[in-house]
Amino acid sequence: MRFQRQRGTQDILPEQARQWQALDRSLRRTLAAFDYGEIRTPLFEDTQLFVRGVGSDTDIVQKEMYTFVDRKGRSLSLRPEGTAAVVRAYLENQMGHEGGVRRLFYIGPMYRYDRPQAGRFREFFQLGAEAIGSAEPEQDVEIIDLMMTALAQLPMPGLEVEVNSVGHPECRAAYETRLRQALASERTALCGTCQERIDANPMRVFDCKNEACRPVVQRLPRMREHLCAECSAHHDVVLAGLRELGIPHRENSTIVRGLDYYTRTAFEVHYPPLGAQSALGGGGRYDGLVEACGGPPTPGVGFSAGLERILFALEKTHAPAVATEDRIVILPLDRERRLQALQLAHALRELGPTAVDLSGRSLKSQLRAAGRSGARVAVILGAEDRSADEAVVRDLSVGVQAVHERTGVVAAVRALFQGQGG
Ligand code: AMP
Repeated sequence: MRFQRQRGTQDILPEQARQWQALDRSLRRTLAAFDYGEIRTPLFEDTQLFVRGVGSDTDIVQKEMYTFVDRKGRSLSLRPEGTAAVVRAYLENQMGHEGGVRRLFYIGPMYRYDRPQAGRFREFFQLGAEAIGSAEPEQDVEIIDLMMTALAQLPMPGLEVEVNSVGHPECRAAYETRLRQALASERTALCGTCQERIDANPMRVFDCKNEACRPVVQRLPRMREHLCAECSAHHDVVLAGLRELGIPHRENSTIVRGLDYYTRTAFEVHYPPLGAQSALGGGGRYDGLVEACGGPPTPGVGFSAGLERILFALEKTHAPAVATEDRIVILPLDRERRLQALQLAHALRELGPTAVDLSGRSLKSQLRAAGRSGARVAVILGAEDRSADEAVVRDLSVGVQAVHERTGVVAAVRALFQGQGG
C-alpha cells in the first residue's frame, strides 16, 4: 500500500522550502520594524470559537471547517483563519489589561475544506497582523501600510489596495433593508445562492462570482451612500491617510469580505499581474469581534495574506524571493577520507551550507550529483594522483579546479566566493 498526500495539501521540498524561509525572513523583518510581536496559538480550538468569531452565516463555518469530536466528546475544529484565535488568546491572557493597543502577528497553517484549484488549498499558510485596542482610523491606515510595506520588500511593484467601508451595525441595518428590497425585486435574475442570501446576509451577493448575477449586482445601492456621519468621517480619514502615505489605492464598493465581524474599513490587496486571482489578502476593522468572543467591547483591525499566493506571484513575475546561497559539497573518495571530510565540513560551514557525499560512489557519479544539486564548489579528498595532505577545489559553476594543501582549503573556497579564486 502506497500512501498519497491528501487532496488540497502540499509537500514543500527543500528547494521550495528555501523560498518559504526567505519569504518568512523578509516578512518578519517588516513586522519587527513595525513593532508587532509574534503570537502562536494552537492549530485547533473549540468549534464554537469559530462559529462565534467567524460567523455562523459564513461559508467557512457552514461548509469549510475540519471539525471532529475528541475522545471526551468535545467538538474541536482545525483553525480556518487566525483572528478568532488571536482574540481568544488576547482575552485569556489578559493582554488588554494595561490598556493601549496590542500589536500582534502570526504566520502559520490554516485549514479549510475548500474546493482545491489553482491557488486554493485545504491546508494553506497565512500571515496575519492584528492591532487590538484602537478605534481610530489612523490605526486602519497603519495596518494597510504594514501589509503594503511587507509585500513591497519582496519586491512586488504595482500593488494596489482596494478599500471600502461596510459601516457599523446600525447604519448597515438600514442599508440592508434597502438592499433586500432591491434584491427582492430582481430575485428571479439571481443564482440560487444569492437568492438564499437575500434574507440571511444580503451584502454577501457582492462576493458572488456568478456571471448571471453581475448585471443585478452592478445596479444595487452601495453602502458608501448609506454610511452614517461617523462611519463616513472615519472612511474619509482612512482615504486621506492612504493618500498622505503615498499608498496606491482605489475605492471599491463591492468589497464586503466574507467574514461577519467586519465593521467600517474593509480592504483587499491586489497584484494585477496575477489576473483573475489577483487578491493576495485583505482585512478590515472588527469592532464587534472581541465582544462576540466574550470580552469587553474592544475595537480592532487586522489583515491576513496567503503565503502560497505571494510565492506564486513572485514566481510568476520572475522575482525570486531568495538569492541562491553558495553551497559546498565535499567528496571523500575512500573510507579513510570520510572522517576528514566530516571534520573539514565544520570549518567550511562558516562560508556556506556544506554537505559531505557519503554515498560511496565513484568520483564521476559524485561530481554529477554535485552538479545536479546546484552546489557552487566541490572539495575532492583522496584523488588518485594527490598526496594525503592535498585537496582539489573545483568551481562547479565554471568547471575549473586547483590543488591546495588540505589546511588551505577554507582560504581557497573563501577566495573563490569572493571572486578571487579560479
Ligand atoms: P480570507 O481569510 O478568506 O480573507 O483569505 C485571506 C487570504 O488568504 C486570501 O486572499 C488568500 O491569499 C489566502 N487564502 C484563503 N483561502 C485560501 C485557500 N483555500 N488556499 C490558499 N490560500 C487561501
